[in-house]
Amino acid sequence: MDRQALQGSEYLVKQSLAEEVFTPEDFSDEQRQIAETTTEFIENEVVPHLEEIDSGRFDLVVQGMKKAGELGLLMIDGPEEYGGLELDKVTSMLAAEKIAPSGSFSVAYACHTGIATLPLVYYGTPAQKAQYLEKILTGEWLGAYCLTEPGSGSDALGARASATLSEDGKYYILNGTKQFITNGSFADLYTVFAQVDKTKFTAFLVERSFEGLVVGNEEKKLGIKGSSTTQIILDNCKVPVANLLGEIGKGHKIAFNVLNVGRLKLGAAVLGAGKGAMAVGIKYANERKQFNTPIAQFGAIGEKVADMQAGLFASESMIYRLSGMIDNQLLTIPKGGADYYEHYQKAIEDYSVECAIIKVFCSEVLATVVDEVVQIHGGYGFTAEYPAERFYRDERINRIFEGTNEINRLLIPAMILRKSLKGELPLQKEAMKAFESLMTPSFEELDASDPYAAEKLLVQNLKTLFLILAGAAVQKHGEQLQHEQEMLLAAADLAIEIFAIESSLLRVEKIAGQASAEKRGLLQAVLKSIAFHGAERAATAAKRGAFYIEEGDTLTMILSGVRRFTRYDAAGLLPAKRLLAAAANESEKYLF
Ligand SMILES: Cc1cc2nc3c(=O)[nH]c(=O)nc-3n(C[C@H](O)[C@H](O)[C@H](O)COP(=O)(O)OP(=O)(O)OC[C@H]3O[C@@H](n4cnc5c(N)ncnc54)[C@H](O)[C@@H]3O)c2cc1C
Repeated sequence: MDRQALQGSEYLVKQSLAEEVFTPEDFSDEQRQIAETTTEFIENEVVPHLEEIDSGRFDLVVQGMKKAGELGLLMIDGPEEYGGLELDKVTSMLAAEKIAPSGSFSVAYACHTGIATLPLVYYGTPAQKAQYLEKILTGEWLGAYCLTEPGSGSDALGARASATLSEDGKYYILNGTKQFITNGSFADLYTVFAQVDKTKFTAFLVERSFEGLVVGNEEKKLGIKGSSTTQIILDNCKVPVANLLGEIGKGHKIAFNVLNVGRLKLGAAVLGAGKGAMAVGIKYANERKQFNTPIAQFGAIGEKVADMQAGLFASESMIYRLSGMIDNQLLTIPKGGADYYEHYQKAIEDYSVECAIIKVFCSEVLATVVDEVVQIHGGYGFTAEYPAERFYRDERINRIFEGTNEINRLLIPAMILRKSLKGELPLQKEAMKAFESLMTPSFEELDASDPYAAEKLLVQNLKTLFLILAGAAVQKHGEQLQHEQEMLLAAADLAIEIFAIESSLLRVEKIAGQASAEKRGLLQAVLKSIAFHGAERAATAAKRGAFYIEEGDTLTMILSGVRRFTRYDAAGLLPAKRLLAAAANESEKYLF
């Protein structure tokens, strides 16, 4: 891959070129092969058992995970030295996407291959890796990640579980309770976070068989009922000192760094779930007749289908663009050095803003998709006889775990500002330029020869608007801005919409030239819809932000900027949506 990658958050201040972005159309033969193997496995081995799995047959989840292990699907992110495939993030996300139609099973998979395996891969000593990694990568052992406690969820570092060195210096004695642990009832290896000497947040590798580890009862949940969620109780649990992971007092790095990949992976999983749910909705709409007409033929239903296609296209474009950006950075790290994984994680951490964006945007697209799929089913969508009901229940957790969407939204501007303060992002300089542009009249003429001129101008204008608002917020509140959550959420919403529209635009621009006339029409239609709705949401967020921070003349000026910089000529939006709906009704699936 010789594409040049943007550094993290730079998309807000730099222009990207279409040929630089990775898109699903760039998947290699090997990546497509893994996607196919994954889909075959899910369709043959897991989907037929979904109902039993959801009734609490966790033995079937374990059995499925072992089969996934045999097929190599658990070793994608693992180092070759320990039996892993060490493939790129694009492949890892593609596998997560293809696993997703398996509902609860995919939660077990994502947890095991993500937050449960990566702490060991990134921070394990050679001895720890030799002892555990091969077992984890083959599925002989399954993993879990124990961060949350009854009293500390979002405030993860407020954990109270304690770790005390035994008198003979051979063990840490762990005490405390971990809450909501995915794979809790059947995992063999738990990554547990606890405070050494009450203040030093530290990670430990805890085997199920260690004395003092007790698995609590299953939670009775709203959705993902086939995913095991239990407390893990540490009752004087004896953990050999050799099982301390990373450094004492540095557990926060382990806890948070693996969450970046976790959030990207969650994006891929909800994309896969959304594609599956939408296909079910379209099929039903074609079959169900009212007023002697298949309901799919009604504009009201067609618009839902078109909007679902657009949301999923944007999600997909963002996920694989970011995976490509991360892969490019990872390729620059020399292999074999003792500090390889330190650089590796830093490279991923650099994109933590984009990882949070993907977590929020994609999970909320899925929420809309499943809601509309229930609506398309009418009263039948409300009954357990149709799968729409399960999609609706299973979706809800995605806005809560891997950091709630509020926490992820708050992280986005906080991390952008931190980069700016560290001199890694020229936010201040660009904000001043943006503010000046408010005072200059606009003579924005679209390049008639460029079919994407309107969308390009929109993206550029939204970046200007983001910089104006971020600059004004910093000026007004200074360091206190961190406490102005309503403002931070508005800024996050704007940053999210920019990444979504830009990723979709760059993908369409890159691939439309080689597409058939029919496909090109669909690509242009989907882009128009994404740009229109994205601009509307961005305008609402920007207006909200403006009212929160300014008043008087400055407010009036910023509001006129909001109108100017969110303007988008969506002429042809209705035929575009109808085109998408008709094509979707014909194919009964995701179109791209
Ligand atoms: C099914 C399931 C599986 C899970 N799997 C795992 C797992 O495998 N391992 C693990 O460690 N954890 C796991 N979790 C825990 C999950 O990550 C937490 O539930 C989540 O982080 C939220 O924490 P909480 O539930 O304590 O909510 P709280 O932190 O109490 O949050 C409650 C509400 O307050 C908001 N809020 C909290 N703090 C702030 C703030 N500073 N500013 C603004 N708003 C705020 C939140 O956004 C939320 O809306 C799982 C949870 C569930 C339900």
